[in-house]
Amino acid sequence: MPHTPASTTPTAILSALLQEQQGLMELLHHPRKVTHASRDFWLGDLHGKPVVLALSKIGKVAAATTATALIERFSVRRMVFTGVAGGVGAGVNVGDIVVATDFVQHDLDASPLFPRYEVPLYGRTRFDADPALTAQLFSAATEALAHGQASQAFPDARVHQGLIASGDRFVSGAGESRALHDALTGAGHPVLAVEMEGAAVAQVCLDYGVPFAAVRTISDRADDSAHVDFPKFVEKVASRYAHAIVERLLALL
Ligand code: SAH
Repeated sequence: MPHTPASTTPTAILSALLQEQQGLMELLHHPRKVTHASRDFWLGDLHGKPVVLALSKIGKVAAATTATALIERFSVRRMVFTGVAGGVGAGVNVGDIVVATDFVQHDLDASPLFPRYEVPLYGRTRFDADPALTAQLFSAATEALAHGQASQAFPDARVHQGLIASGDRFVSGAGESRALHDALTGAGHPVLAVEMEGAAVAQVCLDYGVPFAAVRTISDRADDSAHVDFPKFVEKVASRYAHAIVERLLALL
């Protein structure tokens, strides 16, 4: 494989949903589409930095395929995920932002062969986000909220930092959400938010040694009204958050 200089190796920006990617497409200069692995990848420049925009698609397997393609085909030097999630930790409310410190798969259970939540043969339960990239993402998210472009509708919005749980379920029931929170927290994994992709991307990035960071805006509380709150949030505000945060992050890189 030809050697690519670091200055031209792109940063991957993954979104889960098309609505969010549209906000980022507005920022992209010299867009060029490459179709690979049944997915569209958008190459271009954002704030003068080479990027590849991609949709993870929904769920852990789809997200892992997208992440692998970004590394194998586009040789990305780092990966950043922007998406929405359900808030499950106390005080993690709609309109807040969660920057991931690490990830767990809440639906992985190979017990009694392995402890619940442990990923077999990796000898670990939690997969870390890259600390340096995460610190930059935290600054970008904090600035985006402080300047209000993202969040006029949520004046009390906060940025949290902590554990995100991923699994192949849209969690939309107060009982289920509480049970998930209590089971994880009881096992020593104090979860803030639930979504469907992050832990899969983190595992792929660990395998390849690619730095990964993720930010999730809280679209719902994973409760009985999640199926109503989620589409409203995605339609109205998710893309503004993604746009404001990624624009600031790229300026910091
Ligand atoms: N057909 C829907 C599916 C969305 S699934 C659509 O495309 O509109 C929900 C997406 O948002 C996933 O990508 C997941 O990562 C995230 N998400 C938001 N709230 C969630 C919740 N309560 N539980 C699980 N994932 C959630």
